[in-house]
Amino acid sequence: MSDRNTTLFERARRHIPGGVNSPVRAFRSVGGAPRFFVSGNGARATDVNGDEYLDYVGSWGPLILGHAHPEVVAAVQAAAADGLSFGAPTEGEVELADLLCRLVPSMDMVRLVSSGTEATMSAIRLARGYTGRDLLVKFEGCYHGHSDSLLVKAGSGLLTFGNPSSGGVPADVAKHTMVLDYNDAAQVEQAFAAHGNKIAAVIVEPVAGNMNLIAPDPAFLTTLRACCTQYGAVLIFDEVMTGFRVGLECAQGRYGVTPDMTTLAKVIGGGMPLGAFGGRRDIMEKIAPLGPVYQAGTLSGNPLAVAAGLVTLRLIQAPGFYADLSRKTADLCSGLSQLARKHGQVFSAQSVGGMFGLYFRAECPQNYADVLECDTAAFSRFFHAMLAAGYYFAPSAYEAGFVSAAHTDADIAATLAAADAAFGRLSSA
Ligand code: PMP
Repeated sequence: MSDRNTTLFERARRHIPGGVNSPVRAFRSVGGAPRFFVSGNGARATDVNGDEYLDYVGSWGPLILGHAHPEVVAAVQAAAADGLSFGAPTEGEVELADLLCRLVPSMDMVRLVSSGTEATMSAIRLARGYTGRDLLVKFEGCYHGHSDSLLVKAGSGLLTFGNPSSGGVPADVAKHTMVLDYNDAAQVEQAFAAHGNKIAAVIVEPVAGNMNLIAPDPAFLTTLRACCTQYGAVLIFDEVMTGFRVGLECAQGRYGVTPDMTTLAKVIGGGMPLGAFGGRRDIMEKIAPLGPVYQAGTLSGNPLAVAAGLVTLRLIQAPGFYADLSRKTADLCSGLSQLARKHGQVFSAQSVGGMFGLYFRAECPQNYADVLECDTAAFSRFFHAMLAAGYYFAPSAYEAGFVSAAHTDADIAATLAAADAAFGRLSSA
């Protein structure tokens, strides 16, 4: 049988750079052809060859209810029948804003956008406009979308200003971003002592999910809060991934640290393009048309995306939803760790709510430097063994994984049985 994934990938590369519309999809680090999906149902997705996979990517986080949840699909279909876009206000947007501000108590006001990148980019502009300062602090290994100020890596020395981490980002832009080490509270204090009155904002993933998964040291998050308060900087929690993924209270509720601003996307759109940024009223009132900081979007608050988001946010409030999701995700991680031990593999795993990290490293990492120590060759072998058995994990050793409410205990057990064989093959290789 011909492999339609390979054929399509060859065709895709003719007119789409790298054959993909977002780089990590290209399977560059694990090798092989990406799977081209045709349909999804619950925890499973089917590719163009007709092969079905148990999906632990879930569109990189949004699909907390699984693929094509009937109530989400029905809401989107109903919204579509009424018109795809108006470029004018709708009642659904008001409902969603009310709901987000109720569920995330640190948000007095919120504005809807169409992606996580837009949410973080806008939040940063607003923080700069609000404070009248330029300097931004971010952390190595955290990803906040692809706007210029955020595609920055650490400079040559501690507490120096950043360098572009992508072509096309002017050094003049990157120099306004300072990149520090995740989970290093002392370094944050030093940075504020040296530059505090120039810092507009600190942006952080309160649980990092873009350098595999890194759990925060609670003292790190409380130090960020204390320094921002002391020096008048805006603390932005980028909860694009963690929002309604680690719990109904988001990471800020889970760790008990209140940011000034929050960015959201992924789960709040239920699989449709939807993001949001919100926070304190005095900050949000600086946005146009109320204030001098400009931000806009032709498709912002799109009725289909809002419809998907409203249903998703209703269903995740069901009693026991997160307890069940967290338990299944934790079972997956503890099961994988036990099996790796049985087969003598250097491996660790952990979860926070419905997101998880798998590491070919003895201990769970604390920061980006630790993550780089993971054995990526072992990961790739594990990834391909699982893929061949019908289990779709993120095609990179540096990404977090996601469990949905549609994953059953039997799915987790089947995954562990397949992993037993995969780890066994790794050990005998
Ligand atoms: N922030 C975080 C924490 C993310 O994980 C992502 C995407 N993975 C983004 C921002 C960017 O979101 P988008 O891809 O929707 O632009």
